Amino acid sequence: MADKYMDLDTLRFILYEVLEGDKLNKYERYADYDRTSLDILIDAVKAFADQELYPYFKEMDEKPAYYQDGQVFIHPQMEKVLKKAAELGLIGPGFEYELGGMQLPVLYNYALVHILDSANNHSTGYAGLTTGAANLIRAFGSEELKAQYIPKMIAGEWGGTMALTEPQAGSSLSDIVSEAVPIDDGSYAISGQKIFISGGDHQFCENFVHLTLARIQGAPAGTKGISLFVVPKKRITTEGTLEDNDVVTAADFPKMGQKGYCTTHLVYGENGNCRGWLVGEANRGLKYMFQMMNEARISVGCAATSMATAAYYASLQYAKERPQGRKINKKGVKDVSEEQVLIIEHPDVRRMLLLQKSIVEGALALILHASRLDDLHAVEEGTASEEAHLLLELLTPIVKSYPAEMGKVSIDNGLQILGGYGFTTDFILQQYYRDIRITSIYEGTTGIQSLDLLGRKIPMENGRAMQLLAKEVMETIGLAHESGLTQEASQLQERMGEVQLVTGHLLKYAEEGDFDHYLADATIYFEFFSTFVIAWQWLKMAVVAQQAIERNAMTYSKEFYEGKVMTMRFYFQYELPKMTAAGETLKSPNSLTVEDFSVDHL
Ligand SMILES: Cc1cc2nc3c(=O)[nH]c(=O)nc-3n(C[C@H](O)[C@H](O)[C@H](O)COP(=O)(O)OP(=O)(O)OC[C@H]3O[C@@H](n4cnc5c(N)ncnc54)[C@H](O)[C@@H]3O)c2cc1C
Repeated sequence: MADKYMDLDTLRFILYEVLEGDKLNKYERYADYDRTSLDILIDAVKAFADQELYPYFKEMDEKPAYYQDGQVFIHPQMEKVLKKAAELGLIGPGFEYELGGMQLPVLYNYALVHILDSANNHSTGYAGLTTGAANLIRAFGSEELKAQYIPKMIAGEWGGTMALTEPQAGSSLSDIVSEAVPIDDGSYAISGQKIFISGGDHQFCENFVHLTLARIQGAPAGTKGISLFVVPKKRITTEGTLEDNDVVTAADFPKMGQKGYCTTHLVYGENGNCRGWLVGEANRGLKYMFQMMNEARISVGCAATSMATAAYYASLQYAKERPQGRKINKKGVKDVSEEQVLIIEHPDVRRMLLLQKSIVEGALALILHASRLDDLHAVEEGTASEEAHLLLELLTPIVKSYPAEMGKVSIDNGLQILGGYGFTTDFILQQYYRDIRITSIYEGTTGIQSLDLLGRKIPMENGRAMQLLAKEVMETIGLAHESGLTQEASQLQERMGEVQLVTGHLLKYAEEGDFDHYLADATIYFEFFSTFVIAWQWLKMAVVAQQAIERNAMTYSKEFYEGKVMTMRFYFQYELPKMTAAGETLKSPNSLTVEDFSVDHL
């Protein structure tokens, strides 16, 4: 295990200097969060992660969750983790004080989650999903449901899940068949099965509250006929005691990574005795669930960023310790009488380290930027709130899928730095390599996120979100010019022109009704667009760093700020040009995967 799994200075730099997050306390809801109280919280969570999470990270992989005699067992340390997480207020931290929450800004929530995920990504989902499930009840449930479930959930006594997926309905939720039949007492008889349900059962919670999508008997086909239900593992009797609710845990899926985080198969109503309670109105379930899914998408992006961050620090440490090879001297030879150099001396290793840094810190900046938009949506009013929401909507597929996709690349490069040792289980890189793989699959695959980006978010409100993004990018470009980062400012402006050109080119297909062609390469569009968005985030960070150096107003070392500018330059030189290749593919008139394609070609 490496000495370091994340960098508090970088986190604070983005929070305070880039995003000025401590100024959120000008809003009444967040009035209690000045910088001192935020720092105390960050330090407390880091100490918790150091003591209770990071030391168990490897062990949770080696001793995975397992299924025995109808029950799922997770690592024993999770008992302490859940208790302590509840004590620290980490379950439902954004909830109102009246509901037992801390009214913590979303921005700060994700800053804390980044610390926890970097320390041990196997353990954080339990509290995260419980928060998300409780939040759905908070937003759309009746007062009775809120009173019955939320307190136990945020106390960590009851777990929460999101139960969408069925064997025949993964990406395509319109094919959900779980059924709900109304009964006289106002509840519903639930039947069906859900697979791959994270955190769905274990020995450390007394009860599990499954936020379940099902179809009320006779409901319209497709997504318009899906409703949302609270389906507990144990239901509350009129006396206030708990009784079995006929939700059977049929299995826990063995996995290649995130092995400490259980993934269950649930069967509802096999004995005709499973009850569910409708959340909100009938047939609006998917709309409600989107709230949880959008939160979960930021969470997945944050988890991927954090795994890749921890992997970066592990490979950086190795590169500073491993002697191998010699530099070529001025005569063009290697002098074997000289000592071997550390591998960090080799430009190719430096390139891999800079690539990792540019991916993980660029992704972290985007996640925190998006979280702040979520806060502004909540606390601002009128147009400001609406615009923050639109921009967040546009960025959400990138927040989820850039860290997932490029985090894989980042960890792959980290593993490469360890050479043969990286492939062995003596070193931790291989665990991050396996753990991160799921992040581009669950919460909507990258393919589905890309369809959402190009098919829904780009044309949304006649391209208004894109216009808002362009405005923000132009502001950054202006500041970059003022800070002397003129070359990169011009580069980004040029790339913005390309984004507009390529997007316009694709939209023509949509206008002509040729949606197959419009969306065929949505994933390439996602790569193209997200490379641009991360470049914008890097320019933003570099402007702040450059100004801090020039004004000699540095909270951290000079090298820290220079490192930010250097990594931005790396990203612009090595990553940004990849837009050209993707743009070329996107502008091609060919249709290899649509009209020209035949299954027999494969
Ligand atoms: C470890 C783990 C934990 C999970 N946790 C949860 C959970 O807590 N709750 C929950 O409800 N679900 C959960 N899931 C389910 C997860 O969200 C789904 O696996 C995921 O959405 C993909 O669905 P699928 O596996 O059925 O794949 P499919 O939908 O069959 O997709 C297979 C491939 O086809 C592509 N594809 C599918 N449809 C299209 C399309 N229209 N256009 C282009 N490409 C398409 C996909 O991108 C993918 O590459 C979990 C899964 C795993 C493995």
